[in-house]
Amino acid sequence: MQYTPHPDRYQQMIYNRCGKSGLQLPAISLGLWHNFGNDTAHQTKVDICTTAFDLGITHFDLANNYGPPPGSAEIAFGQILKQQFAGYRDELIISTKAGYHMWDGPYGEWGSRKYIISSCDQSLKRLGTDYVDIFYSHRFDPNTPLEESMMALDQLVRNGKALYVGISSYNSQRTKEAYTILKSLGTPFVIHQPSYSMLNRWVESDGLLDTLGEIGIGSIVFSPLAQGMLTDKYLHDIPENSRASQSKSLQTKFLSEENRKNIQALHAIAQRRGQSLAQMAIAWVFRKQQVTSALIGASRPQQVIDCVGSLKNLSFTAEEIHEIDLYAKD
Ligand code: NDP
Repeated sequence: MQYTPHPDRYQQMIYNRCGKSGLQLPAISLGLWHNFGNDTAHQTKVDICTTAFDLGITHFDLANNYGPPPGSAEIAFGQILKQQFAGYRDELIISTKAGYHMWDGPYGEWGSRKYIISSCDQSLKRLGTDYVDIFYSHRFDPNTPLEESMMALDQLVRNGKALYVGISSYNSQRTKEAYTILKSLGTPFVIHQPSYSMLNRWVESDGLLDTLGEIGIGSIVFSPLAQGMLTDKYLHDIPENSRASQSKSLQTKFLSEENRKNIQALHAIAQRRGQSLAQMAIAWVFRKQQVTSALIGASRPQQVIDCVGSLKNLSFTAEEIHEIDLYAKD
């Protein structure tokens, strides 16, 4: 069926500047790590993406290996780009990455020039687009000179395959090194993609957020809902259609009785603020001004709607922050 985006979509969303760059990103972005593989009906993927776009979510985040099987999320999004989003390419920020295992042999993962450039070419074919807006090194490779990985990103930009580049999960020290190399090359390095949530605060203790502020690079923080733990989903049990019941990426051991009690206490704080727990968890990451966008996942459109509702209340009292810290530990 023909899809027409909501005419008011740009009135609903907040757009934040990505560091000191010219690029603005929606405060909420949608990631396609889960629920976009061959195990999910195509119509569900279409509904999630069009709901997001109707709410002003212009940024869709992928990686070569998202599926299952690896590559299938890019293929599914390529179909949506060709059908529902046809004619809207210039309104979209599409990102993909290379770093994790994608194909067999020594050239199918990590950070060599051989892998990064081949992987980007494969991603562009699956997505059916000439370029991505952001291309990431998905993880630091300790066995490849950082210069080689960064020069491969630079070449993607010079060849018109990516408009901007980013790095994901690099620590503060590696980020400074990457920045120095990319600056000397004149590469538009604008963004870092780390994990960050109430339950996972390494970007604070490592100094990464401070570093990003100093060098003027934006951040898009992944798993702000701790894969669903910071929602009302697991308050009492593990529902059948949840990630914890289906995927190895969220292990049920994290949902111990003690953790569940803490989640219930956080839920009560959110209720007092007039928010869902998911909304409070998203609002919480924006305490840090270096955070450009919260990168969520969703298994159904209603979750996207709920998450975008977080933008109605982003402020916290000192008491609320203190109380949250009693129950949400790193
Ligand atoms: P989240 O922490 O946002 O978890 C998403 C899950 O939370 C959903 O699948 C859903 O679980 C549940 N959920 C979402 N909204 C709600 C809601 N309003 N109410 C109740 N439950 C809700 O993020 P992800 O872990 O999915 O990661 C997001 C994105 O980050 C990925 O798609 C990917 O793009 C990126 N990422 C990047 C990584 C990297 O190395 N760079 C690593 C991991 C992720 P359910 O499915 O159970 O319904």
